[in-house]
Amino acid sequence: MMLHIGIDDTDSPDGMCTTYLGALIYREISRLAEPLDLPKLIRLNPNVPYKTRGNGAVAMSFEVDEEDVPKIKGLVLEMVEKLAELTHENTNPGAVFLEGEVPKELTDFTYKAIWEHVTIEEVEKVAKDVNAEVHKFKCGRGIVGALAAIGHPLNNFTYELLAYRKRELWGTPRKVDEKSVFEMDKKFYPFTYDNVDWGKRSVLITPHGKDPVLVGIRGIDKNRVLLAFESLVLEEIEFHQIFKTNQNTDDHLRFKLIKDLKNYDSVIIRGKVVKSYWERGRHVFIEVSDGTGELRVAAYEPTKEFRRYVRMLIEGDEIIAAGGVKEFEGELTLNLEKFYPVKLVPKIEYRKPKCPECGGTMKSKGDYLRCKRCGYKMPKKLIPVEVSRELERKIYEVPPDARRHLSRPLVLPGGENKMIG
Ligand code: ATP
Repeated sequence: MMLHIGIDDTDSPDGMCTTYLGALIYREISRLAEPLDLPKLIRLNPNVPYKTRGNGAVAMSFEVDEEDVPKIKGLVLEMVEKLAELTHENTNPGAVFLEGEVPKELTDFTYKAIWEHVTIEEVEKVAKDVNAEVHKFKCGRGIVGALAAIGHPLNNFTYELLAYRKRELWGTPRKVDEKSVFEMDKKFYPFTYDNVDWGKRSVLITPHGKDPVLVGIRGIDKNRVLLAFESLVLEEIEFHQIFKTNQNTDDHLRFKLIKDLKNYDSVIIRGKVVKSYWERGRHVFIEVSDGTGELRVAAYEPTKEFRRYVRMLIEGDEIIAAGGVKEFEGELTLNLEKFYPVKLVPKIEYRKPKCPECGGTMKSKGDYLRCKRCGYKMPKKLIPVEVSRELERKIYEVPPDARRHLSRPLVLPGGENKMIG
């Protein structure tokens, strides 16, 4: 029979990683039963407040002998109990088991957990309806991700290879030869991507915390991901595991009207710029209306260069914008991941005329213009001039280090589909 296992919320900023525990469980259970595929790393709604990092959960499926089921379940629960960061106040692990086919109702729930915020009570109801067995540790919020990960069909997916550090090295500086990462990127990009930022000359495949991950290599081709990993010069690792994942699939984005937006939604909206940019701190904001409501749209400081393009939008421009909805200073605000200028209005600038007497340059003096060369004076009347718009008809995206795990980079096939496909 088929047995699905899901786990989530086992880590904290002080250590552990749900993928590591998931990989250990996958290796252990694979000794007792036949894995039906690679383990799944499912990213859920990136806007929920409880996440440690990227709101990831892990699930896996096996063909098992019926008499082994209790032993397998016991082993999984034992490993969660032993390895999860249970002493951390925000770590609330959940483990879920489901036997047989994944019902459609469960997949619908998965998408709810990717798009919106769901409560533990909702999860318990769905689990009961689909006959899933849930195990909560402490408040057990992890059952949200654990159940949702089981229900993900992964019709669209990418891969991530995660290499884990030897236990005695956890918390120490990671030894990754940067040159070898740049060489790897040259050879394998874009089949593996987000390896480095060439502009900043920085390496993106290494996390910075105390967790067991040494490097993570993302890609759309399993073999190239593996070859890319093998080409790196690294400290000795404990083991590596390739996951199938919904990362970089734009899974979290769907069209919504502004009037229907809720805190923590991930959405695509289409509307007109009704207020061109203003800045607070280093964040850049515009206001967009779609006829059903108005929404503040933000390009926050970490999006760096991307903010330049948002500043180029002016009133009347029509855009398609994608991102996460979150309250900022008490107001719902779209945290931009990408935008596409659908229609750009003409941009008019008002300029001083040349001197009608001598062709010299005019200078403003209150309500008058005065020629700098011959002194000719005339009432101030400026000439409207249409200036070219610098924005192009293409999708603009945030840089790789500010990108959400779920956001599809434009370099990948289908990178534009969700927004303008
Ligand atoms: P890592 O990426 O390192 O695994 P994380 O960022 O996944 O860490 P978690 O520790 O798993 O963070 O915390 C996220 C918590 O939010 C989990 O308990 C998960 O079940 C829950 N959760 C996930 N999606 C939703 C959602 N849509 N609504 C409510 N809760 C959610």
